[in-house]
Amino acid sequence: MQQSDIIVVGGGMVGAASALSLAQLGLKVTVLERNEPKAFSMEQPFDLRVSAISTASENLLRDLGAWQQIMDWRLCPYRRLGVWESELAYAEFDADSIRLPHLGHIVENRLIQLALWQQIKHHDNVEIVLGQEISNFNQDGEGVTLTTSSKTFSAKVILAADGANSMIRTLAGIGCTGWNYSQSAMLINVETQRPQQDITWQQFFPSGPVAMLPMPGNSASLVWYNSREKIKQLAQMNSDELTDEIHKTFPKRLGGVKVIDKAYFPLTRQHANQYQKGRVLLLGDAAHTINPLAGQGVNIGFKDVKMLSTIIASAIGEGKCWHDFSILAQYEKTRRPDNLLMMSAMDGLYATFSNNSALLKVVRNIGLFAAHRAPLVKSKVLKYACGL
Ligand SMILES: Cc1cc2nc3c(=O)[nH]c(=O)nc-3n(C[C@H](O)[C@H](O)[C@H](O)COP(=O)(O)OP(=O)(O)OC[C@H]3O[C@@H](n4cnc5c(N)ncnc54)[C@H](O)[C@@H]3O)c2cc1C
Repeated sequence: MQQSDIIVVGGGMVGAASALSLAQLGLKVTVLERNEPKAFSMEQPFDLRVSAISTASENLLRDLGAWQQIMDWRLCPYRRLGVWESELAYAEFDADSIRLPHLGHIVENRLIQLALWQQIKHHDNVEIVLGQEISNFNQDGEGVTLTTSSKTFSAKVILAADGANSMIRTLAGIGCTGWNYSQSAMLINVETQRPQQDITWQQFFPSGPVAMLPMPGNSASLVWYNSREKIKQLAQMNSDELTDEIHKTFPKRLGGVKVIDKAYFPLTRQHANQYQKGRVLLLGDAAHTINPLAGQGVNIGFKDVKMLSTIIASAIGEGKCWHDFSILAQYEKTRRPDNLLMMSAMDGLYATFSNNSALLKVVRNIGLFAAHRAPLVKSKVLKYACGL
């Protein structure tokens, strides 16, 4: 039997960050992960899966020793964020207004995971075990035992960071509430004629927004939200046809582009009914999947990581039993309301902008027009989006 303090199931961005942050507290951690991420080399084209990483997430990754490696590989900072529906009601948010050098960075998900794995591999307290299919786990007052087809693992606590379809969540009997949005999102990597910009922008249409995330060099990641049928239709086009559709639909400020790669995802919202059941804790997408409209998914996952390690660190510091149920319960108590607020804010935004009513269109454009001219409101919204 392999024994540790904590088993983390899922070595994605959130699982790897939680394993490392708890190992830094002196706990022994075992990470079970299905797939090893492909090693990075500079010649590789950009991955389609990228995230807008907030300042708070950057700080966490820096504390974990992974940020410098990501900067040495590749990322793209942005200083401004533009949002509009009608060009007359354009709202722009700027890093200067909250005295920050930038609002965030666009980073490929795999590079975040790889940089964390690199740190894990140098850490004596963490071991990554690959390719074990979990069959079950049991828990009692003392700890948890997790079995796979060939091994048994035991620990005080299991962290489920195994994504939206979390097997641990199901085995623990934790239900979810949620729904599928009627839309899908297509991610498109493009080469741009215009040089790289320091802005990420989003234009809203009743059929769904279109967004541009800048990437290093003359590249960008476009996000196109629309009905499932329309996105399916776009996915069947060849690169030239899709390039034409982008030029017809995206705002002129994008300039000329050439499609390099594309993929699409259904949009779902899902929230676990509990984040803790005995010795099982859910983090990241295993606990919540959110509309990606404002690029907050992994950022709130990283906030879960930060909060859990803060709670456990202070229990250890005060000489308390860090895996006592009353300590573990503090995690759900702090994170659930915060995540719910972010999920509801995204849903409010989504519902407001996907409505075709002429009256609502006037109201939301007045809202954006006013927001552009209200520095206090803007800086509050910005700080919230940056996780500060
Ligand atoms: C279109 C789109 C755009 C997005 N854009 C952004 C953005 O700009 N900013 C942002 O913050 N977020 C964004 N997100 C959300 C973000 O991608 C997710 O929140 C994030 O990937 C969740 O990370 P995670 O580590 O919790 O889960 P995952 O990334 O799903 O990782 C789960 C890991 O667990 C492993 N695993 C699963 N089951 C098992 C098992 N049984 N045994 C062992 N291992 C297992 C998997 O292999 C995987 O490595 C976007 C999402 C979508 C769909």
